[in-house]
Amino acid sequence: MSTPEDKIYDAVIVGGGPIGIACAMEAKKKGLNYVILEKGTLVNSLYNYPSNMTFFSTSEKLELDDIPFISTNPKPHKQEALEYYRRIVTSNHLNIQLFEKVEKIESEDNLHKVTTSKGFYSSKNVIIATGFYDIPNYLNIPGEDLPKVAHYYGDPHFYATQKTIVVGASNSAVDAALEIYRKGGDVTMVVRGPAIGERVKYWVKPDIDNRIDEGSIKAVFNAELKEIRETEVIITSKEGDQVLENDWVLLLTGYRPNFEFLKDMGIQLSEDGKKIPQYDPETMESNVKGIYLAGVICGGMETHKWFIENSRVHAKMILEDVVKS
Ligand SMILES: Cc1cc2nc3c(=O)[nH]c(=O)nc-3n(C[C@H](O)[C@H](O)[C@H](O)COP(=O)(O)OP(=O)(O)OC[C@H]3O[C@@H](n4cnc5c(N)ncnc54)[C@H](O)[C@@H]3O)c2cc1C
Repeated sequence: MSTPEDKIYDAVIVGGGPIGIACAMEAKKKGLNYVILEKGTLVNSLYNYPSNMTFFSTSEKLELDDIPFISTNPKPHKQEALEYYRRIVTSNHLNIQLFEKVEKIESEDNLHKVTTSKGFYSSKNVIIATGFYDIPNYLNIPGEDLPKVAHYYGDPHFYATQKTIVVGASNSAVDAALEIYRKGGDVTMVVRGPAIGERVKYWVKPDIDNRIDEGSIKAVFNAELKEIRETEVIITSKEGDQVLENDWVLLLTGYRPNFEFLKDMGIQLSEDGKKIPQYDPETMESNVKGIYLAGVICGGMETHKWFIENSRVHAKMILEDVVKS
């Protein structure tokens, strides 16, 4: 459902992830006229995380607006987080439009015209909380578009008995490799660097290092995937090329924010390769007046810098500035 074009919102919030929801809670408390526009389901990124994932944060660090997050164990499971964020939205009757993608934002005379897949909105302020989980870092190698290749990992059962290549050495790749191995998959990790990533959760790192050392999970270091074929892959390293029989390939090499979307609305990105969007760290307002940035979108290519724990504070900062202006 779209709104009549003559209605002017105080704030349109783009993205119904944890941080978009945090912004809506603040907007509601301040009595503002707001709407969240979300292109998928509620907390769409979390909904698409691996089915068995456990957060690395303890539940109180994921809380919004001091609403208690009760979980069975200190670190909550994906399903518990879905329950928590959904209850916040439904119990507080937050104004949210799901399955409505924001396609364009044009700013003129302190007013922003938001074009979506379903209509138009006019708003004095726009908060971009679109995260980074929608665009994978593609390897751009032959065969990457084959049906056997995935850039997202869901459930380990699917890979039982299957020869599975996992590319990457960060948390996502390590979690997938361990889970698939434990469900009877034949896992080979292909790692660009000389070792498993330093940022891998400290309680998981010994597990993956030991599985690799004992040979239960194979790993090729200082290597890259060069080509993917129907029944095999080619891995290249300084020893030369190696052909491996293969059923499935998981390319878990990270994700990136939608930089074109930001540029199109006039937001400047740093030119040092990190593509950090320009914003005032006190207010989170971008270089475009009335457009604010919230959550992991602030990190540019450094997607590990911001997460729910440390970016939920953006909501208060932004809405305080919105009511001032
Ligand atoms: C496996 C995994 C485990 C993690 N564990 C933790 C943890 O333990 N603790 C922690 O703090 N963080 C964790 N994180 C990071 C955390 O999930 C993210 O930091 C968090 O989701 C950021 O919230 P966000 O609201 O900024 O972005 P997101 O949750 O990504 O939400 C962005 C939303 O915007 C929507 N959207 C995008 N483009 C558009 C558009 N054009 N129009 C409308 N809607 C749009 C998306 O569909 C999405 O729902 C983890 C991440 C992963 C991948």
